[in-house]
Amino acid sequence: MSMEGSIALVTGGSRGIGRAVCLELARRGAAVAVNYAGSSQAAEETAAQCRRLGVEAEVFQADVASPAACEELIAAVKARFGRVDILVNNAGITRDSLLLTAVEEDVSQVLDTNLKGAYFCTKAAAKLMVRQRYGRIVCLSSVVGLRGNPGQTAYAASKAGVLGLVKAAAKELAGRDITINAVAPGFIETDMTAVLPEKARDTMLGAIPKGRPGFPEDVARAVAFFVEKEAGYITGQVLCVDGGMAV
Ligand code: NAP
Repeated sequence: MSMEGSIALVTGGSRGIGRAVCLELARRGAAVAVNYAGSSQAAEETAAQCRRLGVEAEVFQADVASPAACEELIAAVKARFGRVDILVNNAGITRDSLLLTAVEEDVSQVLDTNLKGAYFCTKAAAKLMVRQRYGRIVCLSSVVGLRGNPGQTAYAASKAGVLGLVKAAAKELAGRDITINAVAPGFIETDMTAVLPEKARDTMLGAIPKGRPGFPEDVARAVAFFVEKEAGYITGQVLCVDGGMAV
């Protein structure tokens, strides 16, 4: 199994799951484009860690909530590395609130980042990949997108939307050796979950048969499985990495 010579773009590669994905792909030999929104230092640190693993790595600032920025991001990676073989749509945010109290600005921000961000990065990357006749795409969904979660209606809608994108795009792109799959994490220890109130945290942990939270590396290994060259017959699938939470 190998990713030697592949060029991988990871959105939101500065922290959390995205950073772990960058490092896992670097470990397997891919050159890595590390996208971030605001955390330039953290992104530089991810890139430095990738380089220490013996691959090329560079940071690319872009707000994936802007479709124009998504196009520019793909163009910038192509200009620097010549192609894009692997795209991991990982950038994501939460703006939690109950349905009855949700405000439009938060709902839009969540949908624009999590769903439209994945959509327009995929669209721009797929244009290149169709010409290359090769590509591997993974979108980060969530167990919440499969099961729902009170207080996360917008987030759940965005993560369920990603699954529709994956399934439809899988059918459109399969003939060109381009796969697109989803990884649906459960409760993973990152900045995103560190802000949860203790009660919510305990409830979620109690629902994990494995008896522990997941780590970014657990998710990164699943992403890496899908983007190996040898995984070319697997497309349109959703893999939960959740310690049994959604079973
Ligand atoms: P995190 O620690 O909060 O990191 C979020 C990452 O996304 C950061 O690198 C951030 O960049 C980037 N980002 C946010 N908005 C962006 C934008 N508009 N444009 C570009 N990059 C942006 O989150 P995480 O826990 O690692 O989550 C990663 C993905 O997994 C998300 O899609 C999340 O929904 C999904 N997920 C997480 C869990 C979990 O339990 N943690 C569970 C299920 C699904 P900056 O550093 O520049 O802000």
